[in-house]
Amino acid sequence: MTKGEGAGGLADDVSRLFQRIDAARDDLVRLTQDLIRFPTINPPGDAYEVCARFLGKRLADRGAAVEYVRGLGEPDDTDLHPRFNVIGRFSGASPGPCIHFNGHIDVVEAGLGWTVPPFEGLVRDGKVYGRGACDMKGGIAAAIIAMEAILDEGLLSVGALEFSGTVDEESGGFGGAGMLARKGYFARDRVDHVIIPEPLNPDRVCLGHRGVWWAEVEITGQIGHGAMPFLGVSAIRGMGDFLGLLEAELLPALGTRITRMPCVPEGARAATLNLNSVHGGQPEPYNGRPAPVVADRCRLVLDRRYLIEEDLDGVKAEIVALLERVKARRAGLDYSVREIMTFEPTMTEPEAPLVQTLDHWIEALFGKPSTHVASPGTYDQKHITRFGSVRDCVAYGPGILDLAHQPDEWVGIDDMILSAKVMAATALTLLRRRCTAA
Ligand SMILES: [Zn+2]
Repeated sequence: MTKGEGAGGLADDVSRLFQRIDAARDDLVRLTQDLIRFPTINPPGDAYEVCARFLGKRLADRGAAVEYVRGLGEPDDTDLHPRFNVIGRFSGASPGPCIHFNGHIDVVEAGLGWTVPPFEGLVRDGKVYGRGACDMKGGIAAAIIAMEAILDEGLLSVGALEFSGTVDEESGGFGGAGMLARKGYFARDRVDHVIIPEPLNPDRVCLGHRGVWWAEVEITGQIGHGAMPFLGVSAIRGMGDFLGLLEAELLPALGTRITRMPCVPEGARAATLNLNSVHGGQPEPYNGRPAPVVADRCRLVLDRRYLIEEDLDGVKAEIVALLERVKARRAGLDYSVREIMTFEPTMTEPEAPLVQTLDHWIEALFGKPSTHVASPGTYDQKHITRFGSVRDCVAYGPGILDLAHQPDEWVGIDDMILSAKVMAATALTLLRRRCTAA
């Protein structure tokens, strides 16, 4: 890799980085605990500002230029729950590439089933426990320790290292990474490579994610007396018809469409459709007795995950085609489709410089080739590559994906150390790559 490099120089510097990261083990654990102790639960978006300012202070104390950007006017931004993002940039003496680490500071609610306190950062048996430990405060801590190791070794002479702590990833990221992307923070004239330290296991590189089309289908009929249902048109029966077509035709067809993206788990390599909710007839919950009427409306929320090989128009058209068939065979019935949220699929190619460099250092540290994966669900990469213009973006970080959003969530301390080393070595290699080529 990185031909033309003073190979000995890089190897020596990386080994100094690794020693420094090993020595920072207690600091890394403490930082992870500190972050877990901010209960940044989303929704509603608690404790965002204190958490962002905590990170901003740490970055500023190390010499970063720090900015706070509130998502004013973005979804869910209120004075009670302001959407507070932090960006810190460390600049070398001369211009060069910028390696950016982006982590979401929000976590989902703790939920039930915990045997340890969810917001205390308990350390036991080499693990830090808490809501957000793996998704993704452990990753944020590892990225910060990686950047600090480069700074402390005096190795940031050219280019820049940047960190952003952003909000609302768990609810679409509009007031977080999405807003920063729209404001130009992820433009190629200021950022070259982006690592999102989501919990993907420290020996894997996540190249991207499938697309999402969330929509609500409403079928309308005609109200009538429940004792004479033949005088009405039941929207629920129409929906049943539509659901039958989904079961018989669309769902089996989706299962045969397999992406070239390395999605995990294996089932996510196929196109999928989840029926998120269905409701027809009298509103729930109701008190007293039901009214004897024919349901004149029935709504279904669809969660369609589509592949990079599919196109969004086609995804919509095949739903509409089935609805048209239902309408054609049931007089008096109609339908509408309302789009709720759409995110396009995104994938960084395995040949991209960031992927190649991560692969190199993962193999060096783990003694085996890295594994490329893609995520079944979306994360903030879509904003950075689609609204922003940085194409060299992946998710790479410590933690086990299956533990995210679970009770007793934890992140392994050894994993955080390993991934901090991979991130530091990767960042240093990329900082030098452009400047030696120039
Ligand atoms: Zn996450």
